[in-house]
Amino acid sequence: MPKAKTKALLQVEPSPALRAKAMEVYERLVQLHGAMPLVPRREPMHELISTMLSHRTNGRNEDLAYARMWQRFGSWEAIRDAPLEELTEALTPANFSGAKALNIQATLRRIIEARGEASIDFLRELSTDEAMAWLVALPGVGVKTATLTLLFCFHKIVIPVDTHLHRVDGRIGLIGPKDSAVVAHDILLSLLPADPYVLFNFHIANLRHGQKICVWGTPRCERCPLTDICDWYQQNRASSDNRASIRSHDKS
Ligand code: SF4
Repeated sequence: MPKAKTKALLQVEPSPALRAKAMEVYERLVQLHGAMPLVPRREPMHELISTMLSHRTNGRNEDLAYARMWQRFGSWEAIRDAPLEELTEALTPANFSGAKALNIQATLRRIIEARGEASIDFLRELSTDEAMAWLVALPGVGVKTATLTLLFCFHKIVIPVDTHLHRVDGRIGLIGPKDSAVVAHDILLSLLPADPYVLFNFHIANLRHGQKICVWGTPRCERCPLTDICDWYQQNRASSDNRASIRSHDKS
C-alpha cells in the first residue's frame, strides 16, 4: 500500500483556541456563501473518474472531457479497452489528457479485476482508513481525489484539500504556510467536528471563498468577513487599512 500518499498524521493535539477559530471560519463562510445539503451529486464511479479528470483544469473542461469520453465509448469496459490515443483524444478538453487516459485505464483495470465489475460501492462498508488506502493505491488517485470521493459519495470523515482550501486556510492561519495538502488534511480534521455535513460545507465554503474573494494574487480582503481573525490580513493589511481609514476620517 502506498503509505507515502497518506502518511503525515498529526501527533499534536490542537489548542482549543485554534479549534474555536476553525468553527468561527466555518460559520462565517457558510453564512456568506450558503450551506448545501450533503447529497451525492453523482454516482461513485462517476465521481472518482471525473475527479481524476479535474486536476489542473476547470469544472467546465472536466465535464466536457467526461461527456466526450462517455459518448464515444459508452461503458467502463469500453473505456478500459479503448486504444490509448482515441481515449486521449476524447479527453483533450482536460489538460494532460494522455497521462489521464493512461491512469483511468489502469484504474479501471484494477477495479474490474479486483471487484469483478466497474463499481466502488463496496467502499461504503469499509472503515475510512481502509477505504482511503484502497483508493490511493489506484493509479493516478491521490489524497484529494480519494477524500472527495469518500466524503461526497459515502460521507466518510475526511476533508478534501484542494488548492483553494489550502491557500485560504493557510492565509487565515488554520494550517502552517509550509504544510503539505496531506498534513493540512490531518490538521483540519483535528480542528473540525467529525461530522460529514460540517466537513462538506467547510470544503465548499472555502472553495467558493477562494474562487471569489481570497483569490490567487491579491486577496479581496475588503469583501471578507474574516479580517479580524485572519493572520495574513493582520500581518499585511490591518495597519495600512487603519492608517487609510484615519486619514479619510481626518479629511472629512
Ligand atoms: S482577510 Fe483577506 S487574506 Fe484573509 S481570508 Fe479574507 S480575503 Fe483571504
